[in-house]
Amino acid sequence: MIDYHVHPDFSPDAEGSIEAYCERAVELGLEEICFTTHYEPDPARRDYEEVRVNGRAQPVDSDWPDAYFAALQAARTKFPSVAVLAGVEVGYEPGLEGIINDFLRRHPFDFVLGAIHCLDHVSITSGDELDRFKAEYMSRGPEFVAEHYLHHVRVAAGCQLFDFLAHLDIYRKYVEPLYDRRFGATTDSGLPSVLDFVAESGTGIEVNSSALRRGNAEPYPARRILKLASDAGVRVFTVGSDAHRPADLGKGLEIAVQELKELGVEPARFRTRKLVPAV
Ligand SMILES: [Zn+2]
Ligand SMILES: [Zn+2]
Repeated sequence: MIDYHVHPDFSPDAEGSIEAYCERAVELGLEEICFTTHYEPDPARRDYEEVRVNGRAQPVDSDWPDAYFAALQAARTKFPSVAVLAGVEVGYEPGLEGIINDFLRRHPFDFVLGAIHCLDHVSITSGDELDRFKAEYMSRGPEFVAEHYLHHVRVAAGCQLFDFLAHLDIYRKYVEPLYDRRFGATTDSGLPSVLDFVAESGTGIEVNSSALRRGNAEPYPARRILKLASDAGVRVFTVGSDAHRPADLGKGLEIAVQELKELGVEPARFRTRKLVPAV
């Protein structure tokens, strides 16, 4: 088993050191653990975002990756039975391509997840910011928000900066429940063309088991969306728990792997941003 979406305590919303996660990975018998700490580079969200190094807050644009890569290297030495990979989960918004590209060129990541966490600088994935989201978006209606989200997905794939798109239908978490059926109807009608575009871009899609820990029956994305992606020609998928604490490492991934098996694919593995050929 592999886990390609893991948050160590470099993110303020996560707990557990890289070492603590690796100990858990050994207990679970994981073959590969890919750390994907949050990188939220939007300058307009400077007051909301930070990185932690040894428990101390640092600006997102500080030299925190030095400590991150050093901790990953130390873990590789200490835990030789697990492949410890250097990944990052980038919070994407249109217009941030230059900042993100510059960041990714400066650091030797194995794997890069692109994630839509915000619409126009307002979080759609944080319960703490839900009131702010409602104040900004409720009056604009479900069709607007659904289309706006799908537009973000499309440009995230089109910018070619990411190996994979994280939790494709994350709107299920907070946004969709705020609206009536028109939200789901709009995403349903828009997704096929967005997924055609994602397939053409070569960007992969992760199956994220964190939805299962929230009581959902299906991971992100839902089975019918995965099938749509596969039918559209997406062939590269991976699996991640999106653990924010070591106890959640690997949780639900057997279900994520099973979803992919039904599409006839194995989870992809990466080294230095390149797909490892299947054996
Ligand atoms: Zn995310
Ligand atoms: Zn995540």
